Amino acid sequence: MLFYELSLAFLFSFFLSILASFFNVVIYRTARDESFSKGRSKCEKCHKQIAWYDNIPLLSFLLLGGKCRYCHKKISAVYFLSELVAFLLGIVSYLAYVYSPFLQGLAIWQLAVYFLIFFILMFALLADLQYLIVPDFFVALLLVLAILAQILSSESWFLPIIAVFFSTAFFYGLSFLASKILKKDALGMGDIKLMIPLSFILSWPKTILSIFLAFIIGGFFAMLALIAGKKKFGQVLPFAPFLILAAMISFIFGEAIWKWYFGFLF
Ligand SMILES: [Zn+2]
Repeated sequence: MLFYELSLAFLFSFFLSILASFFNVVIYRTARDESFSKGRSKCEKCHKQIAWYDNIPLLSFLLLGGKCRYCHKKISAVYFLSELVAFLLGIVSYLAYVYSPFLQGLAIWQLAVYFLIFFILMFALLADLQYLIVPDFFVALLLVLAILAQILSSESWFLPIIAVFFSTAFFYGLSFLASKILKKDALGMGDIKLMIPLSFILSWPKTILSIFLAFIIGGFFAMLALIAGKKKFGQVLPFAPFLILAAMISFIFGEAIWKWYFGFLF
């Protein structure tokens, strides 16, 4: 029984690290305007095609000592680390599932869909931190999963749609105002695009909470960056990571925060 559990956990985790490896390709190629569906992976330095046995998540990096087999230049540790995080996340969430009556009480589709959403969001965050982009592929995937979750939950579509309208109107309005006042684009289109699946998933009223939190967290980091002298006033700061963090917090703790806040007021 233990062996069976361990093999399942290992398979699930290995699958996640393969997915992580694929998402890294998506990020890398989107940042360079290349198609990620065509062509095998190449070394970023010498552009030699990478053989399948040098492309096994986690293992290949370790066996090759983090260097390309041909040109011996270093392979970015970000790939290895994100595959490792994916693998560990697999083990931890598998154990959490086995030992948590709460999680076992949820439908398996619910766990799968929301886990995938969370997983994609991690890589959207990584993409924005690395290249200041959020690949359209991730936004589209999130939207498909959000709609799938909505269909399977058989709940009303009214609140999620209201939330999407509200957040897009809000961010369009904000970017319009900002471009009038600052005379340049202050908010990226990527951020607005990302808010469509996010607000659909969060629905109403958690969407407002997440926007509110994103500005608080973003403002805090902007201030730190200004104080540390890393950024000058008016310089672009990636906003998507704050949107993603705020969405994750609102998704998990939204109800508790909402209750706490209104308990405070009334
Ligand atoms: Zn190379």
